[in-house]
Amino acid sequence: MRPSFLYPLFAPIETLTGIGPRFASLIKSLCGNKVIDLLWHLPSNFIDRRCNVPLSHAVNGQIWTGKVHIIEHIAPKSRKQPYRIVVEDHSSQLILIFFKTFGDSITKQYPVGSERIISGKIEIFNNAIQMSHPDYCVDATYPEKMPLIETVYPLTAGISNKMLNKLEQQAMERFPLLDEWQDENLLQQQKFADFRTSLWKVHHPQKADDLLPTSVYRRRLAYDELLANQLSLALVRNRLKKQTGRVIKGTGILRKKVLEIIPFSLTNAQQRVIREIDNDMNSPYRMSRLLQGDVGSGKTIVALLTMLNAIECKAQAAIMAPTEILAKQHYDTLSDLCAKIGVRTALLTSNIKGRQRQNILNELQAGNIDILIGTHALFTDDVTFKDLAYVIIDEQHRFGVKQRLSLSAKGHLCDILVMTATPIPRTLVLTQFGDMEYSQIDELPVGRKPVTTTVMPLSKIHDVIEALKRKIQDGTQAYWVCPLVEESEKIDLSAATERFESLQKIFGSDVGLIHGKMKEKEKNAIMESFCNGSIKLLVSTTVIEVGVNVPAATIMIVEHAERFGLAQLHQLRGRIKRGFEASSCILMYGYPLSQIARERLQTMKQTENGFLIAEQDLKLRGGGEILGTRQSGFSNFRMADLSTQSDLLLTAHKDALLFLQKDPDFQSKRGQALKTLLYLFEQDDAIRTYHAG
Ligand code: ADP
Ligand code: MG
Repeated sequence: MRPSFLYPLFAPIETLTGIGPRFASLIKSLCGNKVIDLLWHLPSNFIDRRCNVPLSHAVNGQIWTGKVHIIEHIAPKSRKQPYRIVVEDHSSQLILIFFKTFGDSITKQYPVGSERIISGKIEIFNNAIQMSHPDYCVDATYPEKMPLIETVYPLTAGISNKMLNKLEQQAMERFPLLDEWQDENLLQQQKFADFRTSLWKVHHPQKADDLLPTSVYRRRLAYDELLANQLSLALVRNRLKKQTGRVIKGTGILRKKVLEIIPFSLTNAQQRVIREIDNDMNSPYRMSRLLQGDVGSGKTIVALLTMLNAIECKAQAAIMAPTEILAKQHYDTLSDLCAKIGVRTALLTSNIKGRQRQNILNELQAGNIDILIGTHALFTDDVTFKDLAYVIIDEQHRFGVKQRLSLSAKGHLCDILVMTATPIPRTLVLTQFGDMEYSQIDELPVGRKPVTTTVMPLSKIHDVIEALKRKIQDGTQAYWVCPLVEESEKIDLSAATERFESLQKIFGSDVGLIHGKMKEKEKNAIMESFCNGSIKLLVSTTVIEVGVNVPAATIMIVEHAERFGLAQLHQLRGRIKRGFEASSCILMYGYPLSQIARERLQTMKQTENGFLIAEQDLKLRGGGEILGTRQSGFSNFRMADLSTQSDLLLTAHKDALLFLQKDPDFQSKRGQALKTLLYLFEQDDAIRTYHAG
């Protein structure tokens, strides 16, 4: 249970004063539902009202603040004219201008003959100094009513910066004094202030540097968040390790048969990874392992060979793919091989319905299916296994810790392997998969030819089409990937459709179109035709991104490649890396071409190494794209920024492990304080996990 002194922070934002229902819903979509979410909403800038020069020195376009004497009000003669007030300091006059204002409130605010401190943007017009709608006007005897430095927050329509500042202020006042959870040495070494002070400072920037991730206050908050993340992952991991799982020790009989059938021998990396998985399965705790291997590195065979461990123990295994097409492809590959060695497989997707589905469910429960292959449909409630021992999740790096935990609840202490072709930088392995063991296939089967990548402007599209004509006549197949238009699938689609139609005029029935809005059935039919070669050129949106395997397709053209992220380009290019023939990737760019886009294209041209690409991506964009966290909202850090603060992550990682070694039960004073930290960053799950273990 969350400690009661944190309740005020986790109360709904409606509990703050001055929030009506309409305003509340705006704030919720901007920051979040809880009071503390306001505190995680970081400033983007600040307005400096400290400028203290005579009016005669005021600068056009800048904020001026100072004491003035109210001289006279000039009411408008017609509705079109503004209301004006003449004021002055000892050096000059200033005209205040108001549009659409009623005289009443204004005469009260600016009584003639009084002194006021005002602040606002100066406009100099034909030598006349003006200010329209001052930001502040306070009685000169109460100057403290105006903040000299005003924090500026990212806003949304309907919320003013002043309102948000007031709310932030209230939220800040609710922040209790907390015991320090960081190590004394670290505080000194990093020059960190305490948490509350740091939070306050972050919300009250005094100079431009205070807004940067390098500011010592921002770094402190980031470090706290990273430490909470690392602690909670380490807790989950420790718990899995303590849990007595089952020992799955295969006889090797089926594995031997498969190795005799397949026309290749395993790479060293595949062998090593299989040993790592075997060891986990053999041992009496639950496996939770991430397997990373670039496209074409041969993860499927690793999946099969390790699933056979479970089958040899008379248990069952399941493999889950993100899309129907991929599930089907796995099924085709695996069912062939399995049939030859007497292992029973079945495919289950949401399109398989009625009696057919019921049959599969019955057989599954009876234990007559050894390996179930499918999509998310595998884990709906009515699917029960006789004895599920091993689950493989393919291309699902977007799966979060919580989802992994709930998934494994399905089986009887089953082992979990998550496979991904996405190269994941070390920092992200630590923050997103820190609860798992990690294996990597860092070697491709021999004989793979490199992909030649060319970068050219879209203006050369006709040359590309000419070259493509010749290639297709020679029997080559190609992908044509259409531009991604942010936030609008509809526009994506119309771009792809347009391109498809124009290419159809040239290539006739050799061209096919596939996109995300198609029904699963239509997609499958198109993929089928592309696989069997009746379609030679496949125009698509990014639906082909993951896993599809067509060995004869060795050319890829990406239109408006500058709009794609690095990780995505790498995934796309992976599609043509499967063949043993030389293949080529043409990245066509349009304008405007940003510096980042230029660097991305350069990187793609220079290397095929997924890890270099991932590190570069992290540097350029901060990593959210790699894991798709921007879409899924999973574990987006609120304070930490891995592209600039990854040094803190490594420290936090070590710190968390060391602490848990010394004080696994959070008994010490620091332990107690660290628990508060976990609650503060809403790692309640980890604490529950800990208590459950
Ligand atoms: P991915 O890791 O991208 O899922 P796959 O498992 O689909 O890769 O393997 C890609 C292709 O490489 C398949 O046709 C597979 O049969 C083949 N393959 C796998 N391992 C080897 C190997 N050791 N030597 C040669 N070919 C291999
Ligand atoms: Mg694969």
